[in-house]
Amino acid sequence: MISLFSINVLKKQRLLIHGTSPRFYVINGERKPFFCSEKGGARLFLKHEKIFLNSLEIDRENFLRVTQVHGNYVYVLKDPDILVSEVGKFEADAIITHIPNCPIAVLTADCVPIIIYDPIKHVTGLVHAGRMGTQKNILTNTIEALSREYGSSPKDLIMGMGPAIRGCCYEVNESSALPFIKKYSLCSEFIKKTEKNKFSLDLPMINQFEGCKAGVLKENIHSDVPCTVCENHRWYSYRKEGKTGRLVTLAMLQRRE
Ligand SMILES: [Zn+2]
Repeated sequence: MISLFSINVLKKQRLLIHGTSPRFYVINGERKPFFCSEKGGARLFLKHEKIFLNSLEIDRENFLRVTQVHGNYVYVLKDPDILVSEVGKFEADAIITHIPNCPIAVLTADCVPIIIYDPIKHVTGLVHAGRMGTQKNILTNTIEALSREYGSSPKDLIMGMGPAIRGCCYEVNESSALPFIKKYSLCSEFIKKTEKNKFSLDLPMINQFEGCKAGVLKENIHSDVPCTVCENHRWYSYRKEGKTGRLVTLAMLQRRE
């Protein structure tokens, strides 16, 4: 079984299943690496995909995910019979759906995984928000897509993030920081100058700010997540490790009676 990271504000929603995988799971009292890579398809990935789903008591072999490209396109999952392989062909960095019993997932290692749930319309969305995606407003696009496709009102949305690199460990050069400095100005709580031409960014906090700007209530956003570098023993970090595994963040709607 896998001891999954979950978010309190979302745990209260009994018709939503969600969770993020850590880097280990325990089988017969033994700790083993839990490994999913973006390539997918490999035997180990398929095996671990099933272990992950079973840990959430989801009786399926696979979850649905798109090909993530650090862009700002939102994939709307409308067809309940679509094949996993078909969904995988779409290049996008967010998925939204109204389909129950259909597990959707994003993979991350430092980037921010964001789960969005609308308990009124009973629809969900998942976002992969790295630096580029955040800069290109992937979260705002996803909130807009939920409104456009399903009539969601931002004030009803509940948003939770998973483990991601935080400002304590995410230092970037001036050219990477510049679009954020222009947008939010310096010395805000999520962009800090660290040394000459270096800046630290806190992507979960930036996305919280963007969520609020799009109309989500601050009390409905959970962004106080562990840092993947500080807690690298628990979470994969691309920044710290280079080539490494991915954390899987999943959301699934249960059927509403
Ligand atoms: Zn850190």
